[in-house]
Formats: sequence, structure tokens, C-alpha cells
Amino acid sequence: MRKSAFIYSKELEKYHYPPEHPFNVDRAKRVRQILNSMGLLSGDGRCEVPPEPADRITLKKFHSARYLHALKTASKGKWDAEALDMGIGTGDCPVFDGLYEYALLACGATITGAKLILSGSADIAFNPSGGFHHAGPEKASGFCYINDVALACQLFAEPCPPYHPSQRPFPSLDTLGRREGKKVLYLDFDVHHGDGVAYAFYDRSDVMTISFHQNPKTLFPGTGFENEIGTGQGKGYCVNVPLPVGTYDEAYMKAFNSIAPPLITVFNPDVIVLQLGADALAGDPLANLYLTNNVYVETINSLLSFRKPVLATGGGGYNVDNTVRAWALAWAVLSGADVSQDKNPAVSGVMLGSTEWQGGLRDRRLVISKAQQEMIIPAVEKTIETIKATIFPIHGL
Ligand SMILES: [Zn+2]
Repeated sequence: MRKSAFIYSKELEKYHYPPEHPFNVDRAKRVRQILNSMGLLSGDGRCEVPPEPADRITLKKFHSARYLHALKTASKGKWDAEALDMGIGTGDCPVFDGLYEYALLACGATITGAKLILSGSADIAFNPSGGFHHAGPEKASGFCYINDVALACQLFAEPCPPYHPSQRPFPSLDTLGRREGKKVLYLDFDVHHGDGVAYAFYDRSDVMTISFHQNPKTLFPGTGFENEIGTGQGKGYCVNVPLPVGTYDEAYMKAFNSIAPPLITVFNPDVIVLQLGADALAGDPLANLYLTNNVYVETINSLLSFRKPVLATGGGGYNVDNTVRAWALAWAVLSGADVSQDKNPAVSGVMLGSTEWQGGLRDRRLVISKAQQEMIIPAVEKTIETIKATIFPIHGL
């Protein structure tokens, strides 16, 4: 039986982005409420674990001291042109009360999950409050301040440190069979390119990043084209799958199935880090893909079939109802619940809204017009062919 840890505590509910900001931290709270009411937070190997704030030693594995200082100072209400230059205090990354504490705790939740996996206490960990994939070493960007997913990849990839009592409650970190650095697969389903993580490992072959996202010509951050494939040792270990506006489930799964399983098979990672941004779902106010959450079921089941530990996080997702349902469903699948009976077979031709929800977690299938199919499929096939021509040969595929 898989051991699955849901990382959450009420402490996370203390902090909020400004009310006009689209990033809603209550999504994680609502995911927990739904799962709790469904009895999916305990039994069958499931448990809830409260996060510990990320410590400075961990944070400095990716972020500069200068940036961390500016973020901490800004959080206390004092920031200057230098901080603004690093993206702190912009419209996208505003300064708000408790910002630093929130960023450390939300990031710490992902690190807590990573340590549970490293210590063998969990096979699956999910932090719905994480997934801040845009943050750079010295840059707040795209609602992200501390890049928890890049830090988790780094933590997995480097050799385990010798045991120190301060590592409690993870004392078995030094007793792992494998002390050396692990091969990490980072998979990013957020509708926006996972730029902060991709560029963090751009020249490395021990962390493979695969990002599925909306065509960067049409969406922030404007990077993540097929020809960004890594450099030096990392050439072929950065994979970008840009998808056209209007991409729907079948087209998405065609791209996923053509690219991810073959690369995962040949890369053979020790651990998978999964960013589950839900802003690729139809009806997201900040993006233009047309997915239903059924793709989560299919993609997660595909990933689980590799029988590797999975550290999953939230991410974007600005239609709150759809995002909450998608992450609850994702946890159900990750933690081994049977979601086959959850299916709502009715077909809907309209955008999904909360009023349509009948209590199940799965979205209804959307009707896809012939014109949409004829526009999307050739574009997706072209992207698949490009990746097969550039990345696959590097891995002997
Ligand atoms: Zn996003």
C-alpha cells in the first residue's frame, strides 16, 4: 500500500494576497474541506502532515541572500527600488502582511513533503499550497516569491546530508539506502511555462523538466518554446510542450502520451516532482486552454504506473471552484482512491461553473466542435514531431 501524505495546517489560513489579486490561498483550505468530508484524509495509508517553514539553509540552495533579505524587509512594510527591481512589490507580486512568513510556510510544505519521501515515511506527498514555479534566484514573478518546486528538485538531486538532530522529525534521512543525489523528473501541468524550474536546471542532466503549457506567444511568461531544450550536459533534459489556445482533453492527452511516458521510461527517475497548476482547465479567467479535470486522472495514473515516489504541488488555477475540485480529484487519484464511479457521463457544451456541480469531483466532458478539432490537432502534432526530432534522438529514442 502506498503511504500518502497531505501537507496542510490551519497556520496557512492566516495569510492572504490582497483582495483584488487573483491568487486565492483559500483554495488549499477548500480542498482539505472536501477531502475531509469525503473521508479521504485518513485510512488506506493516508495521513495529514503539518508543514514546517522552510529554513534559511534550504532557501539558499536556490535564492540569493540579497533577495531573501529584500523579501523579508518588504514583508515588514519597507521596500525600495532595489526590491522592486527584483519584482517585489509589483502588481503581480505585491507586498502584503505576512508575505515572508506565508512564502516560507507554503514553500516549507513542499520541502516537508520532499523530506517525508526522502526519509521513506511517504511514497506520495501533496502540498496544495505549493507550486511557485516562476520565482527566480533573485526574482519574484508571476505571483511567486519562493520557488518551492525548484528547491524540492534540488533537495532530491543533491546527496543527503549527514544526520543532524535538527532534522527531526525526519531522523531517518541519513539511513536511506541511497545517499547520493537522485535523478529527478519535474513535470509541470500549469498553463504557464514552468520557467523558474526549467532555467534552474537548464544545464543539468540529473533533473529533467517537462512543461506542458499554453503557447508562450499568447501567454505569460513568454518563454517555453520547443527549441528551448537545455544546454551543455542538460541538452535534451529540458522539454517544452507549447499547446495552442483551445487545446482540449484528447489533444492534451495525445501530446502527453506521445512525449512524457517514453522520456520517463528512458530517463528512469528516482522521484517525480509534479506541479499541478489547474489554470489549464476550461473557464480559467487568466488563460485559454479547454481541459477538464479528467486529464488529471489520466496523466496521474500514467505517472503512478512508473511506481516512483511522487511529490505533487498545486500552482495556478484562478477559477476557484474548478481548481478546488481538480486538486481534490488529484489527491484522490494520487492516494489510491477509486474515482471510477465518480464519473459524470453527461456531456456539457457550456463552460463549467460551480452551479453545475452535482457533488462529484470529475468535470463533465466538453463538446469539441469539428472546427476546433481541425485547428488544434495539426498544431499539437507539429509540436510532437518537433520534440521527437530534437529531444528524442538525444535519449536514443
Ligand atoms: Zn499558471
